[in-house]
Amino acid sequence: MTAAPVLIVSPQHTDADVLSELIAGARSLTDGPIAVLAATDSQAATVDCPTGFDEQSLAAAGATHLVVGSWAQGDARLSATLADIAAEAVKRLDAHLVLIPSSYEGKDCAGCLAMLTGGAAVCDATAVVADGDKIMARKLVLSGSWDTTVTTATNFTPIITVAPGTFSDCAQVASAGLERVDVSDAVVSPAAASVQLVSQEQSAHGDGPELTSARTVVVGGRGVDGDFDLVRGLAQRLGAGVGATRVACDEGWIDRSAQVGQTGVSISPSLYIGLGVSGAVHHTSGIQGAQKIVAICDDSEAPIFEMADFGIVGDVTEVVPQLLEALNEN
Ligand SMILES: Cc1cc2nc3c(=O)[nH]c(=O)nc-3n(C[C@H](O)[C@H](O)[C@H](O)COP(=O)(O)OP(=O)(O)OC[C@H]3O[C@@H](n4cnc5c(N)ncnc54)[C@H](O)[C@@H]3O)c2cc1C
Repeated sequence: MTAAPVLIVSPQHTDADVLSELIAGARSLTDGPIAVLAATDSQAATVDCPTGFDEQSLAAAGATHLVVGSWAQGDARLSATLADIAAEAVKRLDAHLVLIPSSYEGKDCAGCLAMLTGGAAVCDATAVVADGDKIMARKLVLSGSWDTTVTTATNFTPIITVAPGTFSDCAQVASAGLERVDVSDAVVSPAAASVQLVSQEQSAHGDGPELTSARTVVVGGRGVDGDFDLVRGLAQRLGAGVGATRVACDEGWIDRSAQVGQTGVSISPSLYIGLGVSGAVHHTSGIQGAQKIVAICDDSEAPIFEMADFGIVGDVTEVVPQLLEALNEN
């Protein structure tokens, strides 16, 4: 295994579990330093301990370096600014790999960083492994119909956004402590600094984790008949993200940003639960990366059951309350 440094970039709103998993995954790829660069909640361009961590817990998760810094210009909550700072951190650490969570912000930042470093970004990887000094990333393309493995030339730093659950089998190896890497001299470009975040509000459906990085996602389809409280209730109990089929969005039951599928977002949670979802190919193309699929639908012939690991043929208005009752007993 290589001893080359790995940089992990953690945009604002990164779930603590997602970041811990990335750190464990980085340890499976290098014996060398693992540095974490995280946007804080602050409006200024600051990077410091990611939300949900202090330095001790970050070291316990396996990080060896913490990238810190602050700037008068820019706002590290924005991808372009975070990418400017990350580009400096790549140089300082001589990082041979950058890992970023596969959230909207993560993918946005990966694209900007690839432009700045002259490297390549691979988004939504579902496996990342070392092959000698090369890094191989696996991802599904063309609506999940092709499983591809890609690599980049060794003279470029690959920037890979990683789907949640990819490194779930990797063990955490605590480090002896954190070394600080101050990148306050990183130049925030005038273009990045010119953008200001005016307001940030969680969308109505988003009272759980962000859809694209959630480990568990509960999706409501036509079968919930507009009752998204049912979907949210189960999601809340499981700490899950809330998604929807296009029909549910078309009906105005939930915001369009919750749409999962070919013309919505692709998700790759450890657990997908479909409530009243038939499993049309336009929808299932967006859940190819899901590790376990549970379907609750009243039509035993629905195509979702062909790909489900666990299926319940029944009425969601009866099954979900029973499920919640059982969960609450435990
Ligand atoms: C170009 C194109 C792009 C598209 N992109 C997307 C996309 O990105 N995402 C997407 O989702 N769709 C997309 N669609 C639409 C897609 O083809 C399907 O129409 C849609 O996914 C179906 O949604 P659904 O499963 O909620 O509804 P339905 O197919 O109507 O299924 C509802 C299911 O719920 C069951 N049901 C009804 N009542 C209950 C109950 N009380 N309890 C339990 N089960 C019940 C029904 O038996 C049925 O099986 C696209 C279509 C096209 C043409």
